[in-house]
Amino acid sequence: GNAKGPVKGPTRPLIEDTPAEEARYTIVAGPPQHERGVARLDAAAITRLGCQIGDIVLITGKRTTAARLLPGQQRDSIVLHRGIILNSASKPGEQVTVRKANNVADADEISLLPLNAQGTPLKPDSPLLLRFLTGLPVTIGDVLSVPFSGSTPTDFLVIGTTPSTPIYKVSANESERQPEQETGTDAVIIQANTAIRIQTRDTITLDTTAVGYKDIGGLDKELQRIREMVELPLKFPAVFDRVGIEPPKGVLLYGPPGTGKTMIARAMANETNSAFYVINGPEVINKFYGESEQKLRNIFQEAQQNAPSIIFIDELDALAPKRPETGGEVERRIVGQLLALMDGLTSRGQVVLIGATNQPNALDPAIRRPGRFDREIPLRVPDIRGRIEVLKIHSRNAALAPDVDFNRLAQMTPGFVGADLAALCREAAMVALRRNLPRINELLQGGFIPYETLVNLQITMNDFQTALRE
Ligand code: ADP
Repeated sequence: GNAKGPVKGPTRPLIEDTPAEEARYTIVAGPPQHERGVARLDAAAITRLGCQIGDIVLITGKRTTAARLLPGQQRDSIVLHRGIILNSASKPGEQVTVRKANNVADADEISLLPLNAQGTPLKPDSPLLLRFLTGLPVTIGDVLSVPFSGSTPTDFLVIGTTPSTPIYKVSANESERQPEQETGTDAVIIQANTAIRIQTRDTITLDTTAVGYKDIGGLDKELQRIREMVELPLKFPAVFDRVGIEPPKGVLLYGPPGTGKTMIARAMANETNSAFYVINGPEVINKFYGESEQKLRNIFQEAQQNAPSIIFIDELDALAPKRPETGGEVERRIVGQLLALMDGLTSRGQVVLIGATNQPNALDPAIRRPGRFDREIPLRVPDIRGRIEVLKIHSRNAALAPDVDFNRLAQMTPGFVGADLAALCREAAMVALRRNLPRINELLQGGFIPYETLVNLQITMNDFQTALRE
């Protein structure tokens, strides 16, 4: 008969070397000098994960991040660099899931957003930053804390990589942690030849389309006048032939810095599909010293070849001052060249010059004569209605809390020009971001906000007020 006794046999499969998809280990924090980006696991465990020494793994706590696997001593636990613990939104003593990363690529490019209030003193090519970053495996949403000698570390949020990794979010809920989009590349490794971009608040535009009229606030009347002067000849040169009037060659915009002079010129070029050339007065004088006239000739020639074109001359007063300073000989030649080029334009309005200056009275009168900059439009510091419009334009991509009151903000900002109001909106978004970082840390013991949620972040009235005080 058959024995009815207890069946003896293995309760676990005998074959120990079948690689596991993933495994869970208890976190031990590495010593402070522990290698950045490194996770240490004992050699047998590495093999069980189907990995080899040096492979990149994904480490998942309440968030997923990447690490390089190296052999360690501790059984059943994983020794993690502190940065990995932070980025996996976990803490020592907790468990993380470890699995081999698929498709790890060298990063062609990586975009970093400094999170510190003052931005960062580090340049993208700073040796300190390069030494810190090279070899590091990263994913979008990681925070990299770069020790900056003599001061607090700069925290950078990885807001983009090429190729792109998924955006791993922090969540206590397993399903919400799954990336919304699989990108085919789980993580990238920063190499010595990776292009590093440090985003500044100025370069971050959530709306990437080119600037147009809809982006200009509080200048309806001015814009209307400029459009009549500039746009008609650019678009319909024949109309001007027919009515026999000369289209303007140059329009002078004057007003304090930051009132939108450059923006208007750029928007006009975009809206009329014209080529856009910028001449910066002081730069032509100083940087191209000795070649200033040649430089001017080249730009005018190119603009004519590529017409319709707009040539924007910023700080026109530097090129054509009333009384040329020091010596004067060179300066007089440059003014002369500019006047000759303007007079020589035979493009029937297909090349339009837009000059900008803060001090129209400092201009050489000759440049304001008929056939030259003979139309003038003042740009004033915006009034309260203008300020409301500009504030709305610059927060239209941000999620505002219901308590944000643009009327009150406009009342609080007399004297602010467009550039100041744009900076205020950016700063308020940064305040909201910083306000959320510590809270998430508290809730999840180590977290971050991926850049995408910056867009969804609620910016409150208080954030604007904090930004105003800073
Ligand atoms: P300017 O050439 O008069 O010194 P800019 O055109 O360079 O000023 O303005 C700098 C920035 O300020 C612009 O890129 C824009 O973000 C913001 N800005 C200035 N004026 C306005 C405005 N009227 N409406 C919206 N944004 C403005």
